[in-house]
Amino acid sequence: MGEDFDNIIDGFDIPDEVMEKIQKNIEEIITNFPVPEDNKLDVIKKINFMYSRTRYLSLTDALTGLYNRRHFDNTVEREFLRSKRYGGDLTIAIIDIDFFKKINDTYGHLCGDYVLKEVAYLISDNFRKTDLVFRYGGEEFVALLTETSLESAKIPLERLRKKIENSDFIYDGQKINVTVSIGASVNNAETVAEFLDNADKALYKAKNAGRNKLIF
Ligand code: GH3
Ligand code: MG
Ligand code: MG
Repeated sequence: MGEDFDNIIDGFDIPDEVMEKIQKNIEEIITNFPVPEDNKLDVIKKINFMYSRTRYLSLTDALTGLYNRRHFDNTVEREFLRSKRYGGDLTIAIIDIDFFKKINDTYGHLCGDYVLKEVAYLISDNFRKTDLVFRYGGEEFVALLTETSLESAKIPLERLRKKIENSDFIYDGQKINVTVSIGASVNNAETVAEFLDNADKALYKAKNAGRNKLIF
C-alpha cells in the first residue's frame, strides 16, 4: 500500500466494537448487494482488502509498524488469563530507551524518530515469531514472551540489550549512543495489573541501577 494512503490515515484509531460492526456490514453487503454475478468476486476481493487494511491500521503504530498500545491492552489480559488457565509460562518485558529526551534535544525530533524506528526493528527482529512486540508509548516498547520462563527469557532479553548497545546508530553523519533499560516479570502475579506493575517496578530499578540494564 502506498505512502499516500498511510499519510491520510495516520493516527486513525478504530475501536474494536466498531471493527466488529464493519465486519458484519461487509458480510451483509456481500450477501445482499445486487452485484452482477460476473463482478461479484472482484467486489468481494476489494471489500476484503479494504477491511484487512483498515484492521491493520487500527492495530499498528504508524511510525514503527509495531502493534500499538490499544492492541496491547486487548492482548495482554487474554495472554495472561490463558497462561494462568493452562499453566503455561509468560514473561513480559518493558523496554525503555535511556535518556531519549536528550537524543531529541541534542539532534532533533527527526533523529529521535529515526532512533525509534531502528530500535523497533532491532526489537522485533530479536524475538521468536510466537512472541508479541508492541509500542507501548513514546519511547517504550513491550514484549510478551509466550511459553517462556524467567530463565529462558533472560537469554533473548540480554541479547537485545547488548545488540542495541553495540548497534551503530548514525544520523546525519553523527554517531549516536543508544541504550535501553529493560524491566521484566513473569506470570506469578495474581492479576494482570500486578503482572504489569512488577515489570514497571523492575524497569524503575534498572533505571536507578545506572540504565542499560536488564532486571527481573
Ligand atoms: P530515561 O532514561 O529515564 O528513560 O529518560 P528519557 O529521556 O528516555 O525519558 P523521558 O520520559 O523523560 O522522555 C521521553 C521522551 O520521548 C520525551 C518525548 O518528547 C519523547 N517522545 C515521545 N514520543 C516520541 C516520538 O514519537 N518521536 C520523538 N522524536 N520523540 C518522542
Ligand atoms: Mg519512558
Ligand atoms: Mg526513556
